[in-house]
Amino acid sequence: MRLWPSKYNVLFHLQPQFGQPIHVLQNLFHGQVDFYSPPIPPLFDCLVNSTEIDVVDDDRAGILDHLIEKGFLYRAADEEDQLIQKYVAAGGQRDLIIARHRGSQYGFLPTYMCNLRCPYCFQRKLADDNHVMTEEMVDLAFEAIDELESRVPNLKDELGEKAPIPGIAIAGGEPLLRSARQRRVLERIIQCSEERRFKYSVTTNGLELENYVDLFDRTSMITDIQVTLDGPEKIHNQRRPSANGGGTFHAIERGINAALKKRLPLSLRVNLDFGNIDYLKDLAAFILESRWTAAENFHCYVSPVTDNSGIGGYGQIADESLLLKKILALHVSDPYVAEVFDIKHFRGFDYVRNLVEERKPKMPVLYRCEAVLGMHIFDAQGNIYVCLEAAGTPQLAVGSYVPALRLDEDRLKEWFTKDLVNLPECSACRVRFICAGGCAYKAFSKPETADCKPILEEMRMAWDHFRDKIADDLGRQIRPT
Ligand code: SF4
Ligand code: SF4
Repeated sequence: MRLWPSKYNVLFHLQPQFGQPIHVLQNLFHGQVDFYSPPIPPLFDCLVNSTEIDVVDDDRAGILDHLIEKGFLYRAADEEDQLIQKYVAAGGQRDLIIARHRGSQYGFLPTYMCNLRCPYCFQRKLADDNHVMTEEMVDLAFEAIDELESRVPNLKDELGEKAPIPGIAIAGGEPLLRSARQRRVLERIIQCSEERRFKYSVTTNGLELENYVDLFDRTSMITDIQVTLDGPEKIHNQRRPSANGGGTFHAIERGINAALKKRLPLSLRVNLDFGNIDYLKDLAAFILESRWTAAENFHCYVSPVTDNSGIGGYGQIADESLLLKKILALHVSDPYVAEVFDIKHFRGFDYVRNLVEERKPKMPVLYRCEAVLGMHIFDAQGNIYVCLEAAGTPQLAVGSYVPALRLDEDRLKEWFTKDLVNLPECSACRVRFICAGGCAYKAFSKPETADCKPILEEMRMAWDHFRDKIADDLGRQIRPT
């Protein structure tokens, strides 16, 4: 009998602290996972490394039926490709997916100016750009949003209360500058957002947060204030100095205290690289001492510093798997670090963690990020972008909203096709339904190379990290071969 292994099978081998080794057979398209105890028959090697197999005896009929049922093996050469084509075709109904599952996403960049000078900032060349959004521009942006919302498929009858609410993300530059004009603009964005019953979030460096919390306090529609602290005081101040070179740590600390006192939802982000990872332990101790983790709306995570625009000039960015290796070692050796910091934005690790914790696979990812999902970001120069990091580069804009909404459909199509289906390197990639084609902006800024992350290596590390939990929690699911 001839059978065809899935092109997305991978095999990992784990050795828990106690007990037998575990072999993990995983499919990176539909996400099914099986755990096996040794010995692993030669067939398993073929599942990962062969394009087709001949099965001569039927001793293994039981396991073959199981592997076929779970989609690790197919009975026809083109069965998997047909399944994938159907999935991609259904996922291609982008507007319907957004209307049904997540609601439209809009962004506001009231200015590119910033009161900090972080050496790794992807917008650092724009920090002195003096365009500032006006209240009239805010009104024009919301007119554009109303127009865009009128095009969204209406699923209210079908979904009722469950219909997702559109979201507004306010960022910059720095959206909370010490300026009466900037404050009025922010008030207007929030007012227009609330009139439409939209949710909104703010990404700020936190320097002026203390002076702005009253503004966010007036509403129940705020979902998140994201603030960044990059380490204990000395390290943070080196990495995130003010525009005049001064320290910013204590002003940010006051801002966080003020926001938490008002029970505002706050996520604290640590931009992580080899310049600050050795100080995570000290930052964890500071955060615990400050009792921020006791606040119900507080959440803290580390996220790797990236350079999607290819701006360069910052030497601390390294292979993300090396960074992940170090964080996971810290999570094991230091209970404070594990207690305080969630690990975000390592796609291979997140994928396995989700499997271990939720015990069900994530859906195959077709859309990597907001940029390919069609977010509309309004900037202070009157342009519309789909990617926050591309904002401020007019040749990457997808349209404008001053004096009225104008979208460049050809440019939008260019963004939307920087994906796992259309990028040539990605179409045959084993991890493409996890990676989803890498960063679309990089496909513009560095078109010569695919944006491949070490996803398989991260997954291997994640399985290893969770090996004892798997042995304890999932023991009953381990199959003899
Ligand atoms: S294209 Fe997507 S992943 Fe890349 S910088 Fe923009 S939002 Fe981020
Ligand atoms: S960017 Fe690289 S890892 Fe991601 S889907 Fe494309 S080829 Fe695969």
